[in-house]
Amino acid sequence: MPTLPTPLLTDRNELIARLAANRHYDIAIVGGGATGLGVALDAAARGLSVVLVESHDFAKGTSSRSTKLVHGGVRYLAQGNIGLVREALHERTTLLRNAPHLAQPLSFIMPSYRWWETPFYGMGLKMYDALAGKAGLGKTEFLTRDETLALLPTAQPNGLKGGVRYWDGQFNDARLALALARTAATHGALLVNYCRAVDLVYDAGRIAGLVCEDTQTSRQYRISARCVVNAAGVWVDELRQKDGLANDDGGERPTKPIVAPSQGVHIVVDREFLAADVGLMVPKTADGRVLFAVPWLGKVILGTTDTPRNDLPREPVPLKEELDFILNESGRYLRRAPTRSDVRSVWVGLRPLVKPSGDEGGSTKGLSREHTVLVSRSGLVTVTGGKWTTYRAMAEDVLTTCLEKSLLDGPKASVTAHLPLIGAGSSGLPAHSICQPQGLHSYGDEQSVVLNLPGASTTLADSLTEAMVRFAARFEYAIHVEDVLARRSRMLFLDARLASSLAARVGEILRQETGLDPQFEAFQELAQHYLYLPE
Ligand SMILES: Cc1cc2nc3c(=O)[nH]c(=O)nc-3n(C[C@H](O)[C@H](O)[C@H](O)COP(=O)(O)OP(=O)(O)OC[C@H]3O[C@@H](n4cnc5c(N)ncnc54)[C@H](O)[C@@H]3O)c2cc1C
Repeated sequence: MPTLPTPLLTDRNELIARLAANRHYDIAIVGGGATGLGVALDAAARGLSVVLVESHDFAKGTSSRSTKLVHGGVRYLAQGNIGLVREALHERTTLLRNAPHLAQPLSFIMPSYRWWETPFYGMGLKMYDALAGKAGLGKTEFLTRDETLALLPTAQPNGLKGGVRYWDGQFNDARLALALARTAATHGALLVNYCRAVDLVYDAGRIAGLVCEDTQTSRQYRISARCVVNAAGVWVDELRQKDGLANDDGGERPTKPIVAPSQGVHIVVDREFLAADVGLMVPKTADGRVLFAVPWLGKVILGTTDTPRNDLPREPVPLKEELDFILNESGRYLRRAPTRSDVRSVWVGLRPLVKPSGDEGGSTKGLSREHTVLVSRSGLVTVTGGKWTTYRAMAEDVLTTCLEKSLLDGPKASVTAHLPLIGAGSSGLPAHSICQPQGLHSYGDEQSVVLNLPGASTTLADSLTEAMVRFAARFEYAIHVEDVLARRSRMLFLDARLASSLAARVGEILRQETGLDPQFEAFQELAQHYLYLPE
């Protein structure tokens, strides 16, 4: 295995010292999810000076709670949104090329239980292939009943008529977020987690920076920046409202919120429910949604739902109807129906859907999945909506807007389409599927670094070693048990009980590495949340 130069250290004191140095940046970004991190990388790779602050941990929000699909969106095709699908299919290929250790092709079977389903949906999926063109990952195939069962032996055989196989991609969302953060850092960007933007700074009515607070010490820092990008996901309206009030001669007209949050629930069950390296796609559930069963890191993800909400909790909980819906619908298509006692973890994400002006709520199913970039009177740039798959194109769009509005000077062209992310080089080892349990393969070409850390042969659980926890603390910005067990390793999402049983040991190693409180109790409380099944 080739040895690599040591990765950049992410020592917190050092990061905070850089923040406190009060230098002037070209661009300051609020929010360390897919959107903000994408913008940070695009800007840093163009040579701009970049700072990003994240109030919690990178990808703590929606970006660790996706269905893990790198996809064009077959559902949006059915809605006739050709432009969105084409762009996403193109971005899908770019992502698979730039982060092959974290994003890979996966084929999906759509089983048919009515005679018309195979030709009807099959033709739609052929169109998906046609839109992908050269970016296609494999041809859509029409399957007989026997072929369907051979590829997906755990599909419900009763009434099965045949099926369709098509190709999309899957990924490790939170680790991709970290790869974006770390790649941006290698281009000089300063990224700080657990640091919340609390206020905006103006100079003669124009945005000139922000005030942020280290949530670990409550110390505040002023960042001066020529351009400020609000990429706070479903929480973007908070800063927009501050901006609106600050620039409204007396603050009488509050800025109208643009986000209509919609909740999506996933449950995780054991691999035996889908014992093949293929996904299952149900094109139309009882409520007209698409349902997926996705093999992921040794388990199976079932989901999701689309339930409008009026609030923005950090840890939303599933509704009983959502849980029942996923279990019942999956049970119709799988040989063995999963029950509540099979659930290893349940997690909920909030989609940052953008309301058309004048919309007052109601169903979110029909709202656009496209992204929105807005520039306020003071120059605050807000970006939200879109999806993980298109984070790179969104970032490019944000930078284009900033340049067009003269909020930045810099190279006109983005370079991220051909920029491999950290870990993307060859490890010299055989490629490993993301369907298989998490292990060293998630580190790509950095595996040798992990293997050279203390504790490389001390196994905490099947897919987690002591060295991986040390790697997370030294090079991946982890300070809390949750950072390691939820997002560097994905244990909390895969098996919350197992994660809870490992927390004390992970906490000890983190404390040794960082000297900080690893917040063990908070993690134990959180783990209960991921086991909560409403009655
Ligand atoms: C259920 C579900 C399934 C999905 N599945 C897929 C899928 O399979 N494939 C796909 O491509 N897309 C999928 N998506 C969409 C995708 O996950 C989101 O579009 C994307 O993660 C949004 O990223 P973001 O950075 O805009 O938001 P977030 O990830 O929420 O990031 C915003 C960040 O801003 C931070 N923040 C907020 N306020 C402040 C502040 N004041 N100061 C500092 N930081 C702040 C938050 O802590 C948060 O980390 C799914 C979404 C959901 C909800």
